[in-house]
Amino acid sequence: MEAFTFHNPTELIFGKNKTEALKTELPKYGNKVLLVYGGGSIKRTGLYDQVMGYLKEIGAQVTELAGVEPNPRLTTVHKGVELCRQNNIDIILAVGGGSVIDCSKAIAAGSKYDGDVWDILTRKAAVEAALPLAVVLTMAATGSEMNGGSVISNTETEEKLSFGSPFTYPVFSILDPQNTFSLPKDQTVYGMVDMMSHVLEHYFHLEENTPVQDGFCETLLRTVIETAPKLINDLENYELRESIMYVGTLALNGMVSMGFRGDWATHNIEHAVSAVYDIPHGGGLAILFPNWMKYNLHVKPERFKKLAVNVFGIEQAGKTDAQIGEEGINALRAFWTSIGAPSRLADYDIDDSKLDLMAEKTVKFGPFGNFAKLDKEDVLEIYRLSL
Ligand code: NAP
Ligand code: FE
Repeated sequence: MEAFTFHNPTELIFGKNKTEALKTELPKYGNKVLLVYGGGSIKRTGLYDQVMGYLKEIGAQVTELAGVEPNPRLTTVHKGVELCRQNNIDIILAVGGGSVIDCSKAIAAGSKYDGDVWDILTRKAAVEAALPLAVVLTMAATGSEMNGGSVISNTETEEKLSFGSPFTYPVFSILDPQNTFSLPKDQTVYGMVDMMSHVLEHYFHLEENTPVQDGFCETLLRTVIETAPKLINDLENYELRESIMYVGTLALNGMVSMGFRGDWATHNIEHAVSAVYDIPHGGGLAILFPNWMKYNLHVKPERFKKLAVNVFGIEQAGKTDAQIGEEGINALRAFWTSIGAPSRLADYDIDDSKLDLMAEKTVKFGPFGNFAKLDKEDVLEIYRLSL
């Protein structure tokens, strides 16, 4: 393993009817709250009224930012920064999925930065302070509820860029699996693909002696594989939602990836597709990840074999590591297809006309990927495999 320091400051409040913890936790950070949410799902489910009720009980002064888009936009971040400055906001409360949380993180950092927050995403400026952020999670997927990362789309430049900072971890996150009951089947599937992809990004590393981390990762993947087929036919099952919610958080809060650097190329390759075509992140990953795997199988076939055997139960007798690894990749694809995830860019009506433009975007900061370094030509090949 590499030497590491682990610190995750987010207080995780998990379980049935825990949303009420807002009443005791939020006042610790002040009275002026910016409530951030998405396109209206929390109004339909009643969560908005519930949260507003708690905020009223504690006498909070609430300013609202509604309408955060899936693949949250820089323009919405700008609006949020403005609201924080005008209203002297003490704490941001994000109620939603990864998009609402990511937008809130960028607002939290942007309102303490004396310039355009886009500078932070283009790596011209570093985050040096941020407003505190609290979360009520409504969708299991990104892990954003317990990490410092944020991904923001700039529709003007057709770029989707990310930043991560110790300052933008939520101070607390409330995870009640009941708040995910209303998530439709397609979004539930995208979420499960995203969390599995986070585990896979970790799994493909070049470090030696990581048996504990590998075991954690394999358990998370097997849990989704066992749970997903039941959950998509029983969307309001508490235990199934609970398992998936817990996996989503563990998959990207640093717990299973201490001592090595995962690959993370596929996320970059997907962000370029989402930037140009505005498709759901999990849908893009389902299409691209197996093809990234096929393209890089040769780098370390024994890693792919380990995944195939320990997660997908592939038989080994008489086969090479690469053959076993390939069967594992096919099993991953078959699993995602079986739960209704897309498998080709054509599923989103994406043809080859903008592959070059997208590939160019992935190398904005140079060659990338820690398991396998990719350049523009490599990315084009992976896109072509995905058409
Ligand atoms: P999302 O974009 O936050 O939400 C997707 C859709 O699900 C929205 O239409 C949302 O509706 C709806 N929804 C959420 N909760 C619901 C509920 N309980 N009931 C009904 N509908 C609900 O999805 P996400 O996958 O969580 O976030 C995706 C974004 O996160 C992407 O931009 C991706 O790049 C990014 N991401 C971030 C990280 C990270 O670590 N920060 C990691 C991976 C990906 P409303 O708009 O009405 O809420
Ligand atoms: Fe992701």
